Amino acid sequence: MAAAGILFYPLTALLLSLLLLSIFLVPSSAFPIPPAGNQWQIFQNLSGCLPGDHNPLLPNLKSYFQRFGYLPSNISNFSDLFDDGLTSALLSYQSNLGLNSTGFLDQSTLSLLTQPRCGVADVIHNSTSAAATTRGRHLYSYFPGRPSWSPEKRVLTYALTDTSAVSIDVPTLRPVFSRAFARWSAATTLNFTEVPSNSDGEIDITIGFYSGDHGDGQPFDGKLGTLAHAFSPTDGRFHLDAAEDWVAVGDVASAGSDDAVDLESVAVHEIGHLLGLAHSSVSEAVMYPALRPKTRKVELVRDDVDGIQQLYGGNPSYRDAAPTGTSSRETGGAGSAAPLPEEKTAPLVVAAALGLALWLI
Ligand SMILES: [Zn+2]
Ligand SMILES: [Zn+2]
Repeated sequence: MAAAGILFYPLTALLLSLLLLSIFLVPSSAFPIPPAGNQWQIFQNLSGCLPGDHNPLLPNLKSYFQRFGYLPSNISNFSDLFDDGLTSALLSYQSNLGLNSTGFLDQSTLSLLTQPRCGVADVIHNSTSAAATTRGRHLYSYFPGRPSWSPEKRVLTYALTDTSAVSIDVPTLRPVFSRAFARWSAATTLNFTEVPSNSDGEIDITIGFYSGDHGDGQPFDGKLGTLAHAFSPTDGRFHLDAAEDWVAVGDVASAGSDDAVDLESVAVHEIGHLLGLAHSSVSEAVMYPALRPKTRKVELVRDDVDGIQQLYGGNPSYRDAAPTGTSSRETGGAGSAAPLPEEKTAPLVVAAALGLALWLI
């Protein structure tokens, strides 16, 4: 009996340790997905919350800022205090999104925080604010290392590889993406050709609709919230949240649903990421991260065109884009124009990798 007891105790301890360890080894993407609906609407309740205040919604706000690159990815428990870290994240967010840098949760900031947006982070880790200043007057940005498609490759292929999760049929989807690609090829030396989804090894860009956790560590969150994400060159993955009320045909502004999202607008934005553009601070630019429901924004503006032509050169027959009224204001931290040592870097993947590494420690 004594021998069995001695054996039993270490076994129990070992099993308990393994159980505890398994809890911490679960990747972040396996955690419960937030409930459907616009979970960021609650930020409106932070109206009047000031530095030094405690508020039960502040941990949510800090998680939001962490997700989009404004707070370090190695923090897992946020306090409910409006602390200095939150103020500096807020200032950076306001600067990157073209708001007045007040450091306060003013109404225009709260309104933007509640809007649906792209899932790609605004501040890409490993970039430096010093590098960002090399953009001069330009408010577009690139991913760290400024990845782009090879100069030898001027025709990129794309395919609709996963559309089963969305109720819109492929013949309806196809012209939407075709028009979205055409807007970028009109401004550059690039061309895009759709190929069948079974063209193994010949597809540069894959487009798919997914729900919730879909295996890349960036789960979708139901209606509104994040709408889509895409990876920087030469990854080629473009994912859309299947839960959105996508409008592929007709005027999105007159759609029946208040949550309707214009598919072509999101496609034009995400293709910018696939080609190497990160987010812009110019609210009129298609590369601006937020998009209100029932809004259509498909025309490249000067800022988008300047950014993409820096990477691929201009199409001589391209008619000039509408001016954007860019100011000389600098935005620190939103990507980098200077070469950095990283190879291909996908947005958020850096942050996700850091987060996962932390879980493993
Ligand atoms: Zn984006
Ligand atoms: Zn994805």
